[in-house]
Amino acid sequence: MLTIRELIFSYHDSPEFHFSLQASAGEITMILGKSGSGKSTFFDLLSGFLSPQSGTIMIDGVSLLSLPVEKRPLTILFQKHNLFEHLSVEKNIQLGKPNASKEEIRHILKEVGLEGFSKRAVTALSGGQQQRVALARALLRQKPILLLDEPFTGLDKATHDEMLTLVEKITKTHKLHTIMISHEEEDARIASRVYRMVDGRLS
Ligand code: ADP
Ligand code: MG
Repeated sequence: MLTIRELIFSYHDSPEFHFSLQASAGEITMILGKSGSGKSTFFDLLSGFLSPQSGTIMIDGVSLLSLPVEKRPLTILFQKHNLFEHLSVEKNIQLGKPNASKEEIRHILKEVGLEGFSKRAVTALSGGQQQRVALARALLRQKPILLLDEPFTGLDKATHDEMLTLVEKITKTHKLHTIMISHEEEDARIASRVYRMVDGRLS
């Protein structure tokens, strides 16, 4: 269980944000809220790029707050720029685990629906396929928390739905604490818990 209690943060002399949330392993937790409401700021606090003024972030009873960015047990995916465009699919995935075997890469590509794509240039892939590569790399990292910051915005409806189904599947298979930010209400259908960012408060 990932438990965030009353995390307080403000940029300079801007108003305070208050964040509280719980997320379970094997479940999707959705964060909904308007643009500019503070959703990505919350992910920056979880990732360690920003430090809160007070509050706690605990996973299974262990605090994350004293850990530097690179030691935090999470992977974050953004809407864009998750991949290195000059590298192949295989090379991009290997960045998640430099000593991964060919067999591991083959297996993970199959899991995200990209069997046989290892030698392709990522620039030759569709938007949805590129996000599948990013998810494959995240899975190889084997971190228990997966943060998705509007990763499927801009994809067509059918692809968007396929990606949600994939996130459901990998969350269960890998027992991830998946937290997904979205501004589309209907994405909440895949979530076990739904939180909203309203007036600076996540609850
Ligand atoms: P969301 O992801 O919900 O669109 P953000 O967390 O990116 O919102 O931003 C929340 C608010 O904080 C916005 O008003 C934004 O302008 C402001 N903000 C974001 N980053 C910074 C920053 N580095 N310095 C000052 N204000 C910021
Ligand atoms: Mg954002």
